Amino acid sequence: MRNKVINKKKALIVLIAVLTVFGILNKTLAYVGSQRQIKVEQEKIAEEKRKEEEKKKYVVGVSHEGQKYSYDAKKVSEKLSKYDYINDGKKIVFLTFDDGTSKTNTPKVLDILKTEDVKATFFLTGQNIEYGGQEAKDLVKREFDEGHAIGNHSFTHDVKKLYPGRTLDMKAFKEDFEKNDKLLKDILGKYFSTRVIRCPGGYMSWKGMEDLDKHLEENNMVSIDWSSLNGDAEGKRKNAQELFNCTMKTSQGKEMVVLLMHDTYGKEETVKALPSVIKYFKDNGYEFRTLS
Ligand SMILES: [Zn+2]
Repeated sequence: MRNKVINKKKALIVLIAVLTVFGILNKTLAYVGSQRQIKVEQEKIAEEKRKEEEKKKYVVGVSHEGQKYSYDAKKVSEKLSKYDYINDGKKIVFLTFDDGTSKTNTPKVLDILKTEDVKATFFLTGQNIEYGGQEAKDLVKREFDEGHAIGNHSFTHDVKKLYPGRTLDMKAFKEDFEKNDKLLKDILGKYFSTRVIRCPGGYMSWKGMEDLDKHLEENNMVSIDWSSLNGDAEGKRKNAQELFNCTMKTSQGKEMVVLLMHDTYGKEETVKALPSVIKYFKDNGYEFRTLS
């Protein structure tokens, strides 16, 4: 009888001990589990933060500082395609320079833009940049760092290759622009991209451009031509005064002006005319913006 009571007590003690150990174990496991959960959550937050920081480094067309001068290139492109140059009374000019960089004229253009405190858009051509070596590459960096916008103007600028028989060869076009894009990334870093392109010879000059329309639409890209020009690539060679006159004539009555100029080799007169061109737009109440 007494033994049975003792045995029951023993059993009870064992049971309590087991339950206690089990309880402690359970709590310990729960604690370890919750700690692990917290760690996972913390890692998730850190990863999201890292991604967020990474995202902020990406730039499209202009540096972060240059963004305050940039304007939606798509809006401009749509207006240009309809020959609509009215802008609710607000005058805007986009100075654009094609075919650079050049060691001869690009530095002077940049100096003038700096002195006048205005921003421009540069449509760059890879072959010319490579021709100019490191100095030409450094000029691309300077353009970007000084708040100007960067557009893609193809690598070779070879219209026979891009539009054989005056008709777009989409494969050749895409390859050529991608090659230029890669060069620009090599110079400006992996965070750089641009969605603005200008077709060599202008979009308006070629046939079979529907494939390009589709490609641009799918990739959120924009092709930009121009509404005015200084004439530094058309007809006979012009001096600075003639380039200025052509600028005035082709900009007359337009509230939105996309001015085509060139800063490549041989365009010394464009550089000479530039201060007067800028003064003309300033005097007429234009705001200087960039395309991106
Ligand atoms: Zn060109």
